[in-house]
Amino acid sequence: MKTLKLRRFDDLHVHFRGLKSKTPAYYEDNLMEQVAPFTMNYCGRATIMPNPKPRHILCVKDVKRYKSHIEMVRNSVSPQPSFDPIMTIEISDSTTLKIIEEAHSFGVIAGKIYPTGIYGKGLSDFFSYKSWQKFGKMNDLGMIVLIHGELDLPGVLVTNREKIFLENVFIPFLSRYSRSFPNLRIVLEHVSSVSGVETVKCFGKNVAATITAHHLCTTLNNVVGKGTQPHNMCNPIPKDYHDMYCLQETAMSGNPKFFLGSDSAPHIRKNKECAHGACGAFTAPILPQLLAEIFENAGKLDKLEDFTSRFGAEFYGLPLNEGKIKLVKKDWIIPEQYGDVVPFMAGQKLQWQLLLE
Ligand SMILES: [Zn+2]
Repeated sequence: MKTLKLRRFDDLHVHFRGLKSKTPAYYEDNLMEQVAPFTMNYCGRATIMPNPKPRHILCVKDVKRYKSHIEMVRNSVSPQPSFDPIMTIEISDSTTLKIIEEAHSFGVIAGKIYPTGIYGKGLSDFFSYKSWQKFGKMNDLGMIVLIHGELDLPGVLVTNREKIFLENVFIPFLSRYSRSFPNLRIVLEHVSSVSGVETVKCFGKNVAATITAHHLCTTLNNVVGKGTQPHNMCNPIPKDYHDMYCLQETAMSGNPKFFLGSDSAPHIRKNKECAHGACGAFTAPILPQLLAEIFENAGKLDKLEDFTSRFGAEFYGLPLNEGKIKLVKKDWIIPEQYGDVVPFMAGQKLQWQLLLE
């Protein structure tokens, strides 16, 4: 039987949600025990997004509590996986320089920015003096800026949000900041379009992008082409075929500026299958298997390990993970549901299975 051994992954963008709580109002987001073990099984590290409910991760106190929850879940998995979370804080209008310093001294190496309008408050102005000071502080501390690259403006279609962000914020921002902070590392997260890829290529090696597995295999047709498919609905929304093919080519090109960030984002079934359904594709249970299939179909299986386990670590300045994971070539059907969550491609066939030792 054909097997594939890969270095343990770094998933440099993942949502672990929160712990099961006794407060039912928050139940919808309390999925960590259900979802995080999937990632922990094949990743040596993962960058944990700072947006659990009811409270985002905004300061060192939040980070400490959230990290200990994640470690508690990891320690309950048997056998205990070799996994370390890369903690982040959200950088918003209310973040102070002291907050950034304190978080950094606790080991936070990245700050996440949601432009205002995408998910609540976020950062309203990348170019203000206050924002300038925050980026300067992160630059001095050697931290990484993770940016959700979409702008939600009146009159702009959801499919154009990334392009509008690039034109109005990202390109002017990089042009201006790269003179003052040439070493500030910036990641355009879940890049989803040709323009996003081309923009990242244009700048220096301190500018990189993550690519998800689902954007490598979906277009807008998979979201609204045959009825609505809420479990494929995610931000940024999958786009046109030329965007998908460009992302495939880029992920498999061996360009170290592009690496894995799955953006696996679970929501419970009833919050996906309803009016105003939540956005996010839950790919964590099938990530290595799906990526192996996509890369193999393109004849680029030899490029997979660099994408999942090398380029991201090198960009972050971390040693490569030590352990390996093993996949075997054997068809299987993805379950319709894992706990309360419907996985991406539920009920469909994949060709590779992950062997847990
Ligand atoms: Zn995300």
